[in-house]
Amino acid sequence: MKKEGICRICGNYGKLTFEHVPPQSAFNSKPVLFQKSVHIHDKNSYLYGKKIRSNQGAGGYYLCKSCNNLTGSYYGDSYKKFAYKGMMALTNRVWASRVITFEYAIQPLNVLKQILSMFMAIDTSDQLLHLEGLSSFLLNKDSQTFPKNLRVFIYHTSTKQVRNGWGMARTSKGYHYLGEITYPPFGLVYSLDSEPTRDDFFEITDFKNYKFNQTVQGRLSIPFLTPKTYIPGLYN
Ligand SMILES: [Zn+2]
Repeated sequence: MKKEGICRICGNYGKLTFEHVPPQSAFNSKPVLFQKSVHIHDKNSYLYGKKIRSNQGAGGYYLCKSCNNLTGSYYGDSYKKFAYKGMMALTNRVWASRVITFEYAIQPLNVLKQILSMFMAIDTSDQLLHLEGLSSFLLNKDSQTFPKNLRVFIYHTSTKQVRNGWGMARTSKGYHYLGEITYPPFGLVYSLDSEPTRDDFFEITDFKNYKFNQTVQGRLSIPFLTPKTYIPGLYN
């Protein structure tokens, strides 16, 4: 495993540290099998169609120590709390309903920044690293300046298959440039310069308008979806 390289958040070259995606505290401390973009998209790679086993939980050597520590200490705990609430919502769900409504106490800006840190970490295309304003949005905890062509969404899932990738999908609506991280209780999705693949995702782009560490209380109605394959964007 390569342990030196370009940090996917700050862009500096140096030693890389293991980053859990999602955070270890958010139900990600057990061994998992997962696929990265190279296993899904690159038919020429010997890795195509294979899976990785990670005994530390899902993740990899993506970030420098400074970015790993910064995102972990500023945003990790907020995401953990959000994931615990989400797991309670999932456990108590009424199975007749496809949308799960639950009362949350949430730190919206922190959660959005944690989710985008995870997306930057797994983005081997560097399209997020080169997206103007995204690194500074994450590295400055108080920043509310967010790239205009980026939107972020969530859904509920209980599927154990881990999607951890980015790519392009085509639907009747056209082409979609997206990334997706699926790890119960949530599926996380971004769309770049395009519409999301579905209209019923719960959009959290507006979480950018809250202050750092600001907690809000309210009901969120989040759809329940089952990813169909490892390829981002498709559901049963
Ligand atoms: Zn860094």
